[in-house]
Amino acid sequence: MPKKPRKTRKPKQTAIVRFLGRPAKPAAKLKQREASFRLLFDSNPIPMIVCALRDERILAVNDAAIQHYGYSRSEFEKLTIRSLQAFDPELPWADSHSGDERAARTWKHVRADGALIDLAIYSRQLVYGDQPAVLLALMDITERKRAEAQMTFMAQHDGLTGLPNRNLLRQKMDDILLRTRRSAEQVAVLVLGLDHFKAVNDTLGHGIGDALLRGVAKRLRSILREGDALARLNSDEFVIVQSRVTRPEDAAFLARRLLDVIADPYLLDGHSVVIGASIGIAMSPGDGDESEKLLKNADLALSRAKNDSRGTFSFFEAGMDARAQARRKIETELREAVQSDVLRPYYQPLVDLSSGRITGFEALVRWPHPERGMISPAEFIPVAEETGLINAVGGLMLRRACMDAVQWPDDIRVAVNLSPLQFRVGNLLSLVMDALNQSGLSAKRLELEITETLLLEKSSEVLATLHALRALGVRISMDDFGTGYSSLSYLRSFPFDKIKIDQSFVRDLAANPDAQAIVRSIISLGKGLGVTITAEGVETEAEVNCLRDEGCQEGQGFLFSRARPNAEIVSLLKAQRGYGAALVA
Ligand code: C2E
Ligand code: MG
Ligand code: MG
Repeated sequence: MPKKPRKTRKPKQTAIVRFLGRPAKPAAKLKQREASFRLLFDSNPIPMIVCALRDERILAVNDAAIQHYGYSRSEFEKLTIRSLQAFDPELPWADSHSGDERAARTWKHVRADGALIDLAIYSRQLVYGDQPAVLLALMDITERKRAEAQMTFMAQHDGLTGLPNRNLLRQKMDDILLRTRRSAEQVAVLVLGLDHFKAVNDTLGHGIGDALLRGVAKRLRSILREGDALARLNSDEFVIVQSRVTRPEDAAFLARRLLDVIADPYLLDGHSVVIGASIGIAMSPGDGDESEKLLKNADLALSRAKNDSRGTFSFFEAGMDARAQARRKIETELREAVQSDVLRPYYQPLVDLSSGRITGFEALVRWPHPERGMISPAEFIPVAEETGLINAVGGLMLRRACMDAVQWPDDIRVAVNLSPLQFRVGNLLSLVMDALNQSGLSAKRLELEITETLLLEKSSEVLATLHALRALGVRISMDDFGTGYSSLSYLRSFPFDKIKIDQSFVRDLAANPDAQAIVRSIISLGKGLGVTITAEGVETEAEVNCLRDEGCQEGQGFLFSRARPNAEIVSLLKAQRGYGAALVA
């Protein structure tokens, strides 16, 4: 028989338990057992509660429970176990779950101060006094849960901005795609890349770069609707998944808003920082119906937007993938071509228009491809610039051009094109000095052609390098003048030796009064500044006559000669010398 608790005993001392179904023990033994159980219960560091099975009232608690929950013993005994539970309508000993399920479950209880705690609860039925009861051991797992939640968050979010990362984005995209599959709506995936973010990092430091990324994330988040997803993929790439899209115009509208919201200056640590962005858009289901494909296609569209003109957006189009593959093939083959040293300069003459004599040659890179024949630099220079191979190509051209030119007569110059990227590496000056020293070519016979894009950044390092090159005696030409961001301030920022009028103004010069007006202005500008003016792309007698009439000093074009290998240059010059002949009378 179970022993009744004595009335005078405090609840603390009444934790006398006997497991249900066990046979009764002799009184002395039972007493000893009770004492052991009491000790186990009372001084157990794990919070324990005994509840009545019938009405769920709390019959007894140990010290650890009092401490943990913040209720006094008498307060506890006015409560039921349900009144401790935050949300659960079920009881911890409910039998609808298997033992394993129950063990794996987390319960949320409310403490006396209102704080929520997470618990794993172990229960055991017994007889308490003379009534059926349940002993509950309450393991607090709040900290473990918090750490787990933190780990899960970190595995799914970007540490810098707190935005979802690629993993979580994939899950969210899959959900959105699944939801929209059953409707007539579309989903737009916008990949947004910041323009020239690296320059911010390089010039203002990583601290400002990080703050800028956080600022961008905040602005992007502020204009998205609930149901859209936002994530940060790579250092300066964000993805927006727009749901409930009915027409591509909806995505275009959002893209414009995103570009606008990013464009406002950011005030970071006393610096006013301006950053632009480009966006590539892929639409589901048209451009793909699963997340990886949509992301890839939006990425291809982003490359197009960046190549076309930064600060814009571009939709994915069929064929972009094939073009991207072709580009990757060029990249691999170009790398091999550089390694096996098959690139060669060809030389196109620059002709003095009044005498018709050759004054120099422009070195133009040529890539003899085993299957495709000669590949145009217009096709592979952009790839070389994107991949960094341009430094190898540029270095090779400089060395070869100087080596070849030193074999030519002393009054013949050689012009070499420089990519703006070669200025970023920082070793351009020593590269030029080495090429001159190794070949023995006099610096005054070397011309370097740069384009306006180089001066866009107005960087003091670029100007310093240009001045240092000029101090060596090298001449600096402005190539393709009139095509880029043609600003007269560029001409003021550096004393160029030569301006090359882009061939688009020379085309049909005789028949086009607008082109004539532009060419005339550039020529008079050159005269005013004391700079040689060269016309590019001269193809006809009519053009050369017109240029000569306008007072243009120098010309280059198919009318005189295409670019030729060095072996032909030597004989071309010999002919000019030998017969005193000019290319154009
Ligand atoms: P660019 O420096 O303006 O070179 C002139 C381009 O115009 C050359 O094309 C030349 O073949 C072409 N051209 C010359 N005369 C005529 C003409 O009468 N009519 C027409 N339609 N075209 C003419 P190319 O060799 O295909 O080079 C294209 C561009 O690639 C060059 O333009 C230059 O920007 C770049 N490039 C070539 N070689 C190098 C190099 O070694 N380094 C770098 N960074 N860029 C290079
Ligand atoms: Mg050039
Ligand atoms: Mg040019």
